[in-house]
Amino acid sequence: MPEVPEVPTVPAVPEPPPGAGPSPPANGWVDSHVHLLPPRLAARVRAVFDAHLPGLLAYPTDPQVALDDLAAVGIGQVWVLPYAHAPGVADWLVPATAEHLAELRAERQDLELILAATLHPDDGDPVGLVDRAVDDYGARALKLHCAVGSFAADDPRLEPVWQRCAERRLPVVIHAGKHDSGVAAAADVAELDRVATRHPDLPLIVAHAGHPAVAATLDLLHRHPGVYADLTPVVTRTPTLGDEDLRRFADRLLFGSDTPNTGHRVGQLLSFLTSRDLTEAVTTAILGGTARRLLAAVR
Ligand SMILES: [Zn+2]
Repeated sequence: MPEVPEVPTVPAVPEPPPGAGPSPPANGWVDSHVHLLPPRLAARVRAVFDAHLPGLLAYPTDPQVALDDLAAVGIGQVWVLPYAHAPGVADWLVPATAEHLAELRAERQDLELILAATLHPDDGDPVGLVDRAVDDYGARALKLHCAVGSFAADDPRLEPVWQRCAERRLPVVIHAGKHDSGVAAAADVAELDRVATRHPDLPLIVAHAGHPAVAATLDLLHRHPGVYADLTPVVTRTPTLGDEDLRRFADRLLFGSDTPNTGHRVGQLLSFLTSRDLTEAVTTAILGGTARRLLAAVR
């Protein structure tokens, strides 16, 4: 079942005027959390959002609208994250997403679209799914969604997956939590603590910075150098990290928008960062340096 966010309370911020904030590098900023799903699945996910949160999302499911916006604000690379809610789904979802991305790439060269693998702990050969996604379909990350798949992050069946991802330095974007609304609790983040302790070489990215359990996520970053977090909103609720947190962990934080299932347009999300009192080095790391460094290490 797709994630169904809680009703948001944080108002939108205005989009920055053109030219505000630091300029993107030649290869652009990176949005490391986007869901460009195959069209029929995208429509099904959208129907769930429309039933629970009508009118709140900033983009239609037509991928070109979101891609136009991403490119317009200086995004150059997009991580596309499919997620399996049940065993057997990854078998068709990863190839179908790869095919969808191949079609999109043929239409536009202004964005580098990065495929992520996905799987469910009940899959028969989850390590094989990782290897095939990387070796046959070019995946450069793995997305796991504990809430929609109804599993714990420290599910013992995932142990061989963590080992393989650590060996391959494959970044794992994991949405911890048990709630359809997309929120995480400190106990959910604690499951990631156990994983990170057993697998120090695993690049583990806490999706949505564990919102609203951001303090637990920051504690995780503090204690595990291999743990990262993305700043993706849960619809309109952006994870609440202070300037000091952003400075301290800039090389382990990633920008993410959740387009097209997001309540803010990408320009608004960028302005949450660029309007802060941060050095260009910090902003540049969060808006792409961290993500590109992670991908360069994949083997
Ligand atoms: Zn997401």
